[in-house]
Order: sequence, then C-alpha cells, then structure tokens
Amino acid sequence: MTETLPRFEDILEIVSGYNPECDEDLLRRAYVYSAMAHRGQVRVSGEPYLVHPLEVARTLAEMHLDDVAIATGLLHDLLEDTWVSEEELEEQFGEHITGLVKALTKITTMEQSYAARAAAQAENVRRMLLASIDDVRVILVKLADRLHNMRTLGYLHEEARRRIAAETMEIYAPIAHRLGMGRMKAELEDLALSYQHPEEFRRLTDQLRQRETVAAALIAEIRSMITTLLEENSIGAEVRGRIKHLHSIWTKLRRQGIGLERVYDFLAFRLIVDTVPHCYAALGLIHQLWRPVPGRIKDYIAMPKPNAYQSLHTSVIGPEGQPFEVQIRTRDMDEIAERGIAAHWLYKEGKEPSQDAERVSWLRGLVEGHQENPRDFLNSLKLNLYPEEVYTFTPKGEVFAFARGATPIDFAYRVHTEVGHHCVGARINGKLVPLRTALGNGDIVEILTSPNQVPSRDWLEIAATARAQNKIRAWLNRGEKEQAVEAGKKLLERECRKIGVSLKQLREDERLPQIAAEHGYGKEEDLLAAIGFGRISLRDLLAPLVRTRPVTPVPSPRGRAAAVPEGSVIMVKGQSDLLTYRAQCCNPLPGDEIVGYITRGKGVAVHAANCPNVRKLLFTAEREVEVEWGGVTGAFSVPLHVAFEDTPGMLAAISQAANGENANIRSCHLSTNEGQLGTADLVVDVDGRGHLEKLLVVLRRLAGVTSVEPSVTTQARQLRVL
Ligand code: MN
Repeated sequence: MTETLPRFEDILEIVSGYNPECDEDLLRRAYVYSAMAHRGQVRVSGEPYLVHPLEVARTLAEMHLDDVAIATGLLHDLLEDTWVSEEELEEQFGEHITGLVKALTKITTMEQSYAARAAAQAENVRRMLLASIDDVRVILVKLADRLHNMRTLGYLHEEARRRIAAETMEIYAPIAHRLGMGRMKAELEDLALSYQHPEEFRRLTDQLRQRETVAAALIAEIRSMITTLLEENSIGAEVRGRIKHLHSIWTKLRRQGIGLERVYDFLAFRLIVDTVPHCYAALGLIHQLWRPVPGRIKDYIAMPKPNAYQSLHTSVIGPEGQPFEVQIRTRDMDEIAERGIAAHWLYKEGKEPSQDAERVSWLRGLVEGHQENPRDFLNSLKLNLYPEEVYTFTPKGEVFAFARGATPIDFAYRVHTEVGHHCVGARINGKLVPLRTALGNGDIVEILTSPNQVPSRDWLEIAATARAQNKIRAWLNRGEKEQAVEAGKKLLERECRKIGVSLKQLREDERLPQIAAEHGYGKEEDLLAAIGFGRISLRDLLAPLVRTRPVTPVPSPRGRAAAVPEGSVIMVKGQSDLLTYRAQCCNPLPGDEIVGYITRGKGVAVHAANCPNVRKLLFTAEREVEVEWGGVTGAFSVPLHVAFEDTPGMLAAISQAANGENANIRSCHLSTNEGQLGTADLVVDVDGRGHLEKLLVVLRRLAGVTSVEPSVTTQARQLRVL
C-alpha cells in the first residue's frame, strides 16, 4: 500500500479541467503553507504527512468542488496537528477558510466523545454532526479525510482499525448516504467491511475472483443483448455492467443465508439514457426481453428518495433463468446518484436556469439561506438538515437530543426528575450560565443542584420540553392539591349548611364516600380536591341530598367583611368566608365593576369586569361567582410603569407628586438607558379607582414624564395555566 507523493500540479490540472476560473494562487499558497507546517511529520505508514492533505485535496478535486473546499482540504489538519495557530491561519487565509478548518477540528472533538460511548448513540452523533455544521463543504472535506484515512487504515494497530472502521460504518457512510453520495458511501462501506470482518472479506474477494471470468462473460453477453435491443428501438444509451460492491453482496449473503454460487445475483446493469421518456421506454423493452420479478419494479423517478436519488429499478429473470438487477436513469440522475450533494457545484456557463433550479431544488429543502442565483446559493450553502433539534453532551459524553430552545432546566429533567427539581444552575462548556440559556449543538452541560431548591412557576416558561414542563407541573400541583383539599372542604361545609345537612353526619352515614364514588373519586380527599379545584359543581353534587332533606335557609352573610388577606373588602355574595384576592392582570379597585372566579386551590380571583382575561377564564361558567366591594377603605397596591426623559431629580419629582396625592410608594425599580430614557416600575397604594385616576393625571403632568400606565405583573400570565 505504498503511495507515491501525489503531485500538486496533478491536482491543479484536475481543478482547471472543470473550473477554468479557479484561484490557482490560493491553492498554491495553501499547498506551500501546508507543506511547511507539516514538514518533518510522518504518517504511521512512514510516508511524509503531506501525502494526506494532498490526497484529501485530490479527492475533493475529483468531486469537482470549489477552490475554498480544496484549500480547506490542504489545510484541514493544521490547527490540530501543527504549531499553526488560529490567528496565523486567519492572517494567511482569512476568516472563512479558517472557520471551515476550525469546524473540522471541532468534529474531531465530537469523535472523541463518541469513541467513549456505545454505538447506540450513532444516530444522535450523526445528527449532531450535521446539525452543528453550517457549511456543507466541512462535511465534504471530512468525508474526503475519512476516505483517505480508511484507505490507509492497514498501518494502524488492530484495535484502532476496528474502532475507526466501526465509526465509519455508523457515522460517515450513513452521512454520505444522506447526502446522496453513492460512490463515497460504497467505498467507505467496502473499506470498513475489510477491517471489521477481515476473514469474510478475504473469502468473499477470493470467491469473486474465481468467478471473474464467468461474470465477465455474462456481463458481456447481457450487455450486448441490451445494446442491440435499444439500438433497434432507436434509444441511445450507455450500458454498464458490473459486480455489485462488496458490502452490498455481503449484506445480501447474510440476509438470505445463501452462498455465492449464483453469480447472477451480484450482477447489476445500468442504462444511462438521454431523457426521462427514454427511461420508461427502455424499461418496457427490458421487460419484453426478460420476465420481471414481481414486486421488484421501483419508480424512483416519479418518487425520488429523500436524498434526491432518481432511477428506475427492476429485477428480471435472465437468459439462464437467474435474476439480475437493472437500473435505468438519465445522465443527470446518474451524476446525482454517484456524487450526491457534490454534483451541485456547477461551473459551466449557459446552462438552462430551469434545469439548475431543478437540480438544486431538493437541496433547498435541506438548507437555509436561499439565494436566487444557484451559484451564489451554493457558495453560501448552509447545511441545516435538522433545524428543529439540538444535540448536547453530558460531562460523561452521553448525547441528549432536545427541541431547539431547550434550556438547562430541560437538560436537568432529562438526567433525572430529582436533578430537575433541585436544579440551581448549570455550567455549559465549563462556564456558569443562567437557567434561561438556550442549549447549543455540541454543548457539554453540567447541572448544579442543591437539596434546598424546589421548582417554581417561572420554570414552566423556561422549560421548552413537555417532559420538563409536566414534571414541574406535577410538583407544583402536589403543593396545590393540599390547598385545594382545604378549600374544597370549606366549600362543601358551607353548601351543606345551606341545605341543612351536616358534613359530620354525611361522613357518619357513609354518604360521603358513596357520593365520592358516584363521581369517580376513590377517596374523600380526592373529592374535596376536585371541589377545591372547581372541577365539579357542588350544586350537582348535593342535588340528591336537597331532594331528601328539608331545606333550612341560612342567614345571608351579606354586609359582613370577609377575612381576606388583602384589604378585607371584597365579598363573595351569599358566602362569607371564601378567600378572595385581586387578580393581578387587571388589579381591580373599589369603584370598578368586578366579577369573581373560583380558582383551583387559591380561592376566588376578583377581576375587573372588563378584564380581557375574564372572557377567557369564564368559559367554565360554573366557576363564576358574584362579588362586590365591601365598603371598607384600605390600601390597594397597583403597579405602575412610568417612562421619562432621564434628567436629574426625576425620581424625586415622581415621589413628591405621589406623596402630594397621599399615595404611598411601596417599591420602585429604576432603570435608565444611557442618559436618554428612563423607566420606573412603581408599586403604589391607592384607596380606589378615583384615587388612582387622580394620581395618574398628576404624574402624567410632570415635566419630563412621557407616559404612565398601570402595568401587568408577570404573575398575571399565570392565570391562564390555573
Ligand atoms: Mn486528516
């Protein structure tokens, strides 16, 4: 396997063959710089290291890639294996090429993480790799790099051979397939097979060699039959016959448990014709000559594979009664089948635009950043195969996949529910970050926990995955359930009193467990919680009792102030001891028209009748209750958002104005923006709607104040999830 040093001039000749406008100077500089940086280094084979970047560049030239890709190929190992620094590389070759080389170096890091893991993670690693690369040339250089390493893998020791071959099989051959690169995939698979199963590979190669003469005669015979047939029907075609590649034969032998006696099975013919109608015409002719095998006719022209592969496939029973495969396609389709994504770099001028558009259309589905000109489009190609996903590592190298937008909270719950509940912070790539930080591809995430930490409602907004949100909600609900049981018990007691039934009696009569069971609750506690959450109607629940018991009216508690924490002034009509609180979305004040809404476990929320949330909330009409102001004066806090020109003394002026109106400022949060505009978030105490309106007028009149509005607190948003 000794290689001669490939000549740079040969590579240049290939490139100028398909791209006469190539930047020869750039390629030459990359070659010279690489030769200098790798000077004195040798590969395990004993050859000068420079052989490797040159071979990679040659493969890229054979793929007909552009100058940038080939230069990157020449320079791809510099940051990893030589003294060259990022700064120096950037100085010599600019930001763009340096960025590509850096991306290639990053892949090596991912490979090292993968090496430490089980093959079960292969799919995730493939996706992470593709998702984290935003220029398709990076992956093409990587494939060329891998191809040369695989070709020279024999020099490494057994363990490394097997590991790298497995990685090629699990990661790189599937990526080549995903990108439609049939030829690259086949060669990687054959090479991997030769290292993973050396004995079988050798035996198979020997067997094929023994049958070579027979196979060659068969190929020639069938080929000439096909050629004659097509000529008679005036269809111009190139007919190729070949033995399938080793890995596909090996897979077939394994799957069918057969031997290699039936050499026909391993022959495949390919007809390259001019037009799509000729494809179908040729298929018809082939089927007239030889009988097709049922179920083996595939029309990938009408229905291309996801990687854009197009062809007609059929298997027919050949001259000696043995089946073989025939593929029929146009030259364009063949080009794409062999070279995949690499077939989309176009250099020839004067192509039909529609044809170009067609060729790149599938690619547009895979990438972001559309340009009209196909050339520009490819030059700024952004590979974005998995835009919705993000792949991260645990510190031990395990890969976790998330929806994009996921945060350390999601990661923590992915590790373990308890880790989630006690999560206090996170390190991403060794750096402490806020819990809101969105995870990025390839991030190594470490979760910090504290036994004192518990989930909070805010986390529901930070978490992006359903799994984390459900766990957080479940935890929060556990706390709420206790409150709901309390509230439910009170509601039930009151309702019982109203109809003259004692709850105690109900329990003693075994009626309560019966009622609970009738409504599908096994335990009294669950029934009470359901009442507290407002999930069942007390009226319905107690209706059977009303019919059987005499109704004793309960004296109306109207006029008595409820014992509520805030202001003690809102009363639920007809009920004296229900907890009420002012909804923070609208902060109703005495003087406002109000409605009450029984919340799950928190008592009665009192909204202004015109609050937009009311319409949304009150779809459960059963949970609406009438409320009224109790006529007791008190202090009601209202959050205000004040914007002003940031001049000295503004805050003093605001607080003076509030004082003048007898409105106490409870808290103030001030922020200014470079001496331009300032904002203050105040919480002021007022005694009612009239008082607030007066205060607003005074504040709005202050010189320098641009706006004053009652604001909605963040808690208000939570009403929707209650
Ligand atoms: Mn390399």
